Amino acid sequence: MTKRPLTLDRLAINQRTFGPDVDLPTAVEAAARAGFAGIAPWREHVTSVGRDAAARMIRDAGLKVSGLCRSGFFGPGSRPEDGQGALTEMLEAIEDAAVLGAAAVIVVGGGGGANIDAARARLCAGLAAVIPAAAAAGVRLALEPLHPMTAADRGCISTIDYARDLAVLLDPDNTVIGLALDAYHVWWEPYLAASVGRAGKRIDAVHICDWRVPTRDLLLDRGLPGDGVAQPRRLRCLAEAAGYRGLIEVEVFQPELWALADPLRIAEAARDAALAHG
Ligand code: ZN
Repeated sequence: MTKRPLTLDRLAINQRTFGPDVDLPTAVEAAARAGFAGIAPWREHVTSVGRDAAARMIRDAGLKVSGLCRSGFFGPGSRPEDGQGALTEMLEAIEDAAVLGAAAVIVVGGGGGANIDAARARLCAGLAAVIPAAAAAGVRLALEPLHPMTAADRGCISTIDYARDLAVLLDPDNTVIGLALDAYHVWWEPYLAASVGRAGKRIDAVHICDWRVPTRDLLLDRGLPGDGVAQPRRLRCLAEAAGYRGLIEVEVFQPELWALADPLRIAEAARDAALAHG
């Protein structure tokens, strides 16, 4: 397994690491000043400045786009219009990603609601419906397995192998559908090394952070790399051994970090933890 150190020229930061309300210009400026190579913007912030302006400001700051967060909420919902809303949203996300030059649109799948089989079937049908648009735009869709604790309300793609099976089923030639691997969500998988190895060339994104013990909030208690038991460096090295050569994105949602208030200090804290432990 490769063990080359993580260097700043390969490190990206997820916009929400700055907090949910920090706008794109502020996040881009702080990421660039802290020396990051890339950023993963969130769609609502891209929309609020306009996708062309967003692309320009990111490019002018010398940053790449490690991923566009996030899309593909095909559930829960039994109403027919839920699926249509998700499709419209995904097609817009694909257009955003094309303009931004994003490595991928991050797809979390939506929650299972009262019928997780039905939700997964909707996800499968929804992805099949948007593959032509993604292929035409040259945009990859990275399925992000979320921890099963979110399967009911946010993400029904629950394991790396399930994400890979879905990708292979829908896109056998690996032209569009890949995977986003997030240490917070997959660290516990019993066959992690084998699963990451099988994901191989489909890995489009690697997110690092940590799992605190005890975890006090399932959404907002993500640790900085090194603050928990998720071994983010292990995931990063496994992905690289499987052929991944893209950016490594630090993605931390944590009110204590946000309380630093100064975006540059937040960026530097995330950067230093990622380089030391990612
Ligand atoms: Zn993630």
